[in-house]
Amino acid sequence: MTVAIVWFRNDLRLRDHPALQAALKAGLAPLPVYIHAPHEEGDWVPGAASDAWRHRALAALDSDLRGRGSRLHVFAGDSLATLQAIAAATGATAVFWNRRYEPAIEARDTRIRRELRIQGLRAEGFNGSLLFEPWHLETKAGDPFRVFTPFWKAALSRWNPPRTQPAPSWLPGIEAIPGERALDDLALTPAPPEPRWDAPFWNHWTPGERGAAAALRTFVHDSLHDYSNGRDRPAESLTSRLSPHLHFGEIAPWRIVAELADAGPPDQRAAYVRELGWREFAHHVLHHFPHTPDANFNPRFDDFEWADPAPETLHAWQHGRTGVPLVDAGMRELWATGWMHNRVRMIVASYLTKHLRIHWRHGARWFWDTLVDADLANNTLGWQWVAGTGVDAAPYFRVFNPVLQGRRLDPGGEYIARWLPELQPLPPRARHAPWEAGTANCVVMGDYPRLPLISLADGRRKALEAIARLKRRQ
Ligand code: FAD
Repeated sequence: MTVAIVWFRNDLRLRDHPALQAALKAGLAPLPVYIHAPHEEGDWVPGAASDAWRHRALAALDSDLRGRGSRLHVFAGDSLATLQAIAAATGATAVFWNRRYEPAIEARDTRIRRELRIQGLRAEGFNGSLLFEPWHLETKAGDPFRVFTPFWKAALSRWNPPRTQPAPSWLPGIEAIPGERALDDLALTPAPPEPRWDAPFWNHWTPGERGAAAALRTFVHDSLHDYSNGRDRPAESLTSRLSPHLHFGEIAPWRIVAELADAGPPDQRAAYVRELGWREFAHHVLHHFPHTPDANFNPRFDDFEWADPAPETLHAWQHGRTGVPLVDAGMRELWATGWMHNRVRMIVASYLTKHLRIHWRHGARWFWDTLVDADLANNTLGWQWVAGTGVDAAPYFRVFNPVLQGRRLDPGGEYIARWLPELQPLPPRARHAPWEAGTANCVVMGDYPRLPLISLADGRRKALEAIARLKRRQ
């Protein structure tokens, strides 16, 4: 049987896989290939947490392929040269993949498609990860959207998600190809003498297609009924936690939509699908404004007086030692699990960019290295939204108050107690602002900072003054 290379990237699943289906429909034998090529990701080489997840997701994919008679063929190096060498070794006549939308990858894939076609191979990309590819929706004037609400209205008016497709029950096995590597050779996961810093992650996550399906089932069963309110309460597990699974393509968004079709109250379902809409919007924005991972979407902010970040200030934020409990709890949740609750992401980002006036790029980079769901589109949108520099940004003058937010959204202080056990002995209200409760000499707090790094009132005032000066200058 003639071979088609199915080039797996961020689509690590077998159901709902357009590239795999294209090979089968063409009557070709799919050869599942993964090529490790971090140097082709431009300035955004995947971070350590992301790599650790990828290792497990690739192992899960390999195991699912083996269960069907095939396996994952792993390579490392230049993607084009590797695909050409595999085609030469196997006589493959086609290369199929599902598209990615990061600027460096889009440019690389365009080049690869051109080169492979020149060589006489059939080379084609498909939509494997979005409900609407970035070029499918535009404003009435034919421009990209810059505001979410009209974007989502346009999406709903053209609602036509791809149909779900089962995984193939059997796939042909193909002999070893010269240059193949073992997954462990890619060194994606920490190995001795490096400490196994990722070990605690796996108490919270099961990478791979089955883990994604299980997370969706749990969400639909336990949390969907109270999603729109519950999603803001960080102590409870009322969000789907599907973000890393979506990033690595272990589940297609249209499968989620299909499985929600008969589940839960309609308003809760709509609220959830709208969040998937933010993911769509983030990809739309990244495709049309490819400079935004590194530069303000709104150039008016180019003159903003960011503070020169003192290394110890940044370190305190990164390691959950600012003395502001909700911020520190979020940063420790991130450190321990590779994930942080969405509302808390907004609060830690607001604290960094507003109270400390540290450029959002520093925060985006830290998230990039530590999040298992690090995603160039969503991360860029999230950071620029909070900093007030992006599309559809939060009002630029909005400064989240972590104490008020904490008392409203975590009134029992459970989220704080979970991630900052040193504050657990304090009464719930005091856990959000220990300094107010006269805890300066409180022994139970261990070495937790007795006072915040900066006074919240001062930080807020200075941020608003800097914004006012920026406005005056323009
Ligand atoms: P749910 O509430 O269950 O939402 C379902 C899905 O919708 C998510 O899995 C995600 O794919 C999508 N989604 C939800 N909210 C958003 C949003 N605001 N923007 C884009 N997509 C969204 N998300 C990432 O996937 N990767 C990132 O690197 C990332 N960085 C962020 C940085 C900042 C500063 C902020 C404020 C948000 C960031 N987000 C990021 C968005 C959001 O926090 C996560 O998608 C969400 O917390 C994931 O948890 P969940 O799957 O339980 O979400």
